[in-house]
Amino acid sequence: MAGNRIYMSEEIKRIVRQRCGFGCVVCGLGYYDYHHVTPYSKVKEHNPYDIVLLCAHHHTEFERGRLSGRKLLNAAKAPMAIQLGYAHGVFESSDKPLRVNIGGNAMINTPTIIAVGSVPIIGFTRPENIGEPWQMTAFMTDTNGTPLLSIKENIWNIHPTKWDVQAEGQILTIRNGSRDIGVRLRHEPGESLTIERLKMRFAGYYIDGTEHRLMINTNTISGSMISNGSVGISLGVDDAMESIIAKWSRAVGNRFALGVQK
Ligand SMILES: [Zn+2]
Repeated sequence: MAGNRIYMSEEIKRIVRQRCGFGCVVCGLGYYDYHHVTPYSKVKEHNPYDIVLLCAHHHTEFERGRLSGRKLLNAAKAPMAIQLGYAHGVFESSDKPLRVNIGGNAMINTPTIIAVGSVPIIGFTRPENIGEPWQMTAFMTDTNGTPLLSIKENIWNIHPTKWDVQAEGQILTIRNGSRDIGVRLRHEPGESLTIERLKMRFAGYYIDGTEHRLMINTNTISGSMISNGSVGISLGVDDAMESIIAKWSRAVGNRFALGVQK
């Protein structure tokens, strides 16, 4: 990286992220750097249409000459996350259960944190044997019911048409628009998962959570501590809704994996 660069504005970075589908243009990984296709030393400007996202691996491959400029240009024209239909990443797995914080509630050693019918909004698969990893599962939508995020066996997928997604340090943030956060998660590996923001509507439930307050429809759920349970918050749906969910999850399942448990 050369010195004396002009500052790359947040607006330019966001345009680049959107254009690349929030992932490395070569592999779709949601952890990345900003890379000038035409070297910055030549153009001396930040043109968002000449900047791509590259993960650390593909950045190194390019810098060391193992990834050709031609392949990079092709990837810039058809970013992998757009082709796949999602950007992805993985949370480190842990052989002990994470403490989950949501809306002033803490849950530990509890596989299902919140479920709507058979769909775990956030939860874990408890390992069959001691020493094996707990696997995280999640499914979160926006307030129109459009999928924002799914997590299956610790692998997260994000829909690329969203306004903005940032995976920085331990925090994953999905924005529906300027100053409108749909999901914000903080994952401390081996320790905790904090749902700092969740605003979704799914199967008749409106879930509005911050780190300190959780509202489900008109009910506030706060200040509870659940440990060694099996289910934290279970929101029932009738048979008709359950069959709609099942049909829908099969339709989107291939492209946008759901952790539906049967
Ligand atoms: Zn990559």
